Amino acid sequence: MAAGTLGGVSEHWDLVVVGAGPAGSAAALGALHQRPDARVLLLDRADFPRDKVCGDGVAPHALDVLATVGVTGLLGDWPVAPRLRISVVGAAGVPVVEEAMARPAQVVPRAVLDERLVRAAVERGAVLRRARVRDVLQDGAGVGVVLTDGEVVRGRIAVGADGAHSEVRRALGPAVVPPQRRGTTAIAVRAYAPVLPEHAGVQVLAFSQDTDRPSYAWSFPVGDGRANVGFGQLVDSRSSVGEAPTRARLLERLEELLPGTTAGAEQVAGHPLPLSTGRSGVWSVGRVLLAGDAASLVNPVTGEGIYYAVLSGVLAGRAAVGGGRYDAMLAEALVGHLRHTDLAARLVRSDRLLHAALRASAHDSAVFDDLADIGLARGRLTRRVAGGMARALVGA
Ligand SMILES: Cc1cc2nc3c(=O)[nH]c(=O)nc-3n(C[C@H](O)[C@H](O)[C@H](O)COP(=O)(O)OP(=O)(O)OC[C@H]3O[C@@H](n4cnc5c(N)ncnc54)[C@H](O)[C@@H]3O)c2cc1C
Repeated sequence: MAAGTLGGVSEHWDLVVVGAGPAGSAAALGALHQRPDARVLLLDRADFPRDKVCGDGVAPHALDVLATVGVTGLLGDWPVAPRLRISVVGAAGVPVVEEAMARPAQVVPRAVLDERLVRAAVERGAVLRRARVRDVLQDGAGVGVVLTDGEVVRGRIAVGADGAHSEVRRALGPAVVPPQRRGTTAIAVRAYAPVLPEHAGVQVLAFSQDTDRPSYAWSFPVGDGRANVGFGQLVDSRSSVGEAPTRARLLERLEELLPGTTAGAEQVAGHPLPLSTGRSGVWSVGRVLLAGDAASLVNPVTGEGIYYAVLSGVLAGRAAVGGGRYDAMLAEALVGHLRHTDLAARLVRSDRLLHAALRASAHDSAVFDDLADIGLARGRLTRRVAGGMARALVGA
């Protein structure tokens, strides 16, 4: 990142947040909860509401974090698809597991969720401005956020919450750890399609037996007769060495695993997912903090990132105006869980272990709940999971 004198300064803010997705809005909310009079600017290149390519599954834990900064009832009016079905397509003798989730994720199109979050931040005093950021500079006194027209917006601190293609992260350069490297990026396609009768009211995850995992197809009912459907896989998995699969290929895989789901599909789009490596990171450099996808905080088994975006955003906002070491705060909140997700991502690569996990879940719904929690938010590979899988392996 370049340092030096920041000329052409137009404004001065306590906090400039780049990107107003879940991480950015949460950062604004975290800062304004800590210090209601803080001057917080939220910059986004898009107008809201805007679409974001996503499976739209919102872990209830994200709502718990929002409640800590005074945002409650955000999705109270939204329907819930309470059941979760997990299968390994083509695996003989492996049960399809279906249970009511202890705490169901809600399926909320991002055009709705992100707009509500931005609105909550603006209601609490954040100023939202449409602008595309191209660089971030630091000098002794603060941060200069450079817009594409050359204007420099000045802040005491900046949060980079500008997603998987983060310009802020690029500006910070190799100091950010972990680096985005091969094997830690997934690619997924998503579409909206009429929900199949057999998928109504159920969040469906279908792993494949014969291609590299973690990779799976999903159908998540939105509650209006449509489902968010998709398929995602690692970019450089063994079956696609060196090149990302095309959108058409990803759609084919979806149709193979969940036949009929792509009929009538609309808003088909692909997007990368920067996966967590499970290691502690350097998520801030000087006065610039990274949150959400910009910090590569995506669950490597399920691709869930909204909870991590909200959590890291809130912590970044708090640290920005209230002090505290952001990297340490984030590590304490997340790294234990992320280590377990990293291990889980390795385990699901083994047919035997994945099958054992499904058998154990079919046998004991508490194991099912623990595994769902690893995929959604805070969970760990508990003794109960290990014991259940061990018994399933012995009995297999
Ligand atoms: C296909 C797919 C399915 C997924 N499914 C799920 C799921 O079901 N559940 C889940 O929890 N997670 C899911 N994820 C992950 C989830 O979408 C992300 O983790 C989440 O969006 C991260 O939020 P964020 O705020 O960090 O980034 P984003 O949501 O990407 O927001 C970044 C914001 O920054 C803005 N921006 C970007 N660049 C600039 C710039 N230069 N200047 C100004 N503004 C900029 C963008 O307009 C955007 O509003 C999925 C991802 C994909 C790709």
